[in-house]
Amino acid sequence: MSDMQRRIRVAILGCTGSIGTQALDVCRQHADRLEVVALSAHSSTAALVSAAREFGAAWVGVADASHGSDAILQELPAGTHRCVGEGRCAELGVVSEADCVVLAVVGFAGIEAAQRSIEAGKTVAYANKESIVCGGDLLMPMLKKGQLVPVDSEHSAIFQCLVGEDHETVRRLWLTCSGGPFYGMSREELRGVTAARALAHPTWKMGAKITIDCATLMNKGLEVLEAHHLFDVPIDDIRVLVHRQSRVHSMVEFADGSVKAQLGPSDMRIAIQYGMSYPERWAAPCEPQDWCFEPPLTFGEADEEAFGCLRLAREAGRVGGTLPCAMNAANEVANAAFRAGACGFLDVERIVGSVMEQSHVERVDTLEQLRECDARSREVARKVLAEV
Ligand code: NDP
Ligand code: MG
Repeated sequence: MSDMQRRIRVAILGCTGSIGTQALDVCRQHADRLEVVALSAHSSTAALVSAAREFGAAWVGVADASHGSDAILQELPAGTHRCVGEGRCAELGVVSEADCVVLAVVGFAGIEAAQRSIEAGKTVAYANKESIVCGGDLLMPMLKKGQLVPVDSEHSAIFQCLVGEDHETVRRLWLTCSGGPFYGMSREELRGVTAARALAHPTWKMGAKITIDCATLMNKGLEVLEAHHLFDVPIDDIRVLVHRQSRVHSMVEFADGSVKAQLGPSDMRIAIQYGMSYPERWAAPCEPQDWCFEPPLTFGEADEEAFGCLRLAREAGRVGGTLPCAMNAANEVANAAFRAGACGFLDVERIVGSVMEQSHVERVDTLEQLRECDARSREVARKVLAEV
């Protein structure tokens, strides 16, 4: 078999976003190892077509059906398979015979693709944290060992620290957190902050939704729940550690008091690449760090009083069942509203808290049940939003 035939076949779902375009860059840099077979987007058809042409993807998916006949799609090479609609796009990793699915869709919308890819036995380079937060109880038991490789930088770090270790010896996880653009602010100061200010993240360049989540610390809350599911560690054994420089990507503390950390530049391509290369390590996709010239690394505690979303997420995680799904739905609504200027910064946590209070919590048994919980919670969130 030639080298070209042995390339890993990759489907990138959500290829036009921050993670998706960086995944494409990794594929570009490692074209001898990675073959892009399928790409999807929600509505950015021009960027999708451009990527499909560059990488010769045989399959493309447009999740938003109202963009399924965009004229630009005529520019796809003859013979390219097209899937239109959320359901068809969720199947892309499976029908395109990909070996690895990069799950880079944002929000709860990624859950169906996650379930299908896992069921079909694909390796999943997993960025879509919301689906783990909502559907962890359902998805985690379906996984075979080594099938899921986290892409979220903290979880990639923990995953890497755990290679060769016995789960029984893990005492605590230390999840690092940049603190976001409003680090150190009081509630009074937070009241007046705008989305434009929140979108100026100090150390990472990301999609709009997660950037706002970083500002409210809901991102860290989601990540506590993500870590709980991925590494089977109780919520209260996951500590959040404010580390402004974003060089230590997270740490694992073991029973004997030893602590392992993973460090590196603040460049998501390293974690994205590891998601595809695992268990191998390939040449770096970005410039290396010169550690002699790094500013001092600092660590501190997160302010869960000022940033209530982190506290709410922990609460949702402790209760479990469908509550994290309700919380996530409320956050998706509130996050979008804050971005659109339809509510204030502190209203995000007010909306999330109110939806959680109004939720009827059930054990998670099916995807359908999560879809209903998500839809119902969005409706409640919109009502609360209308009153703020
Ligand atoms: P972006 O908003 O930048 O990109 C989202 C991608 O998903 C776009 O390609 C978008 O298409 C597509 N998309 C949106 N809705 C759907 C849908 N219903 N079906 C199919 N595709 C859809 O997000 P990010 O790249 O920032 O984040 C992606 C995920 O990765 C999130 O879950 C985030 O939490 C996680 N993550 C991101 C990090 C980052 O650095 N950005 C770091 C760690 C985790 P279109 O362009 O057409 O709208
Ligand atoms: Mg992260």
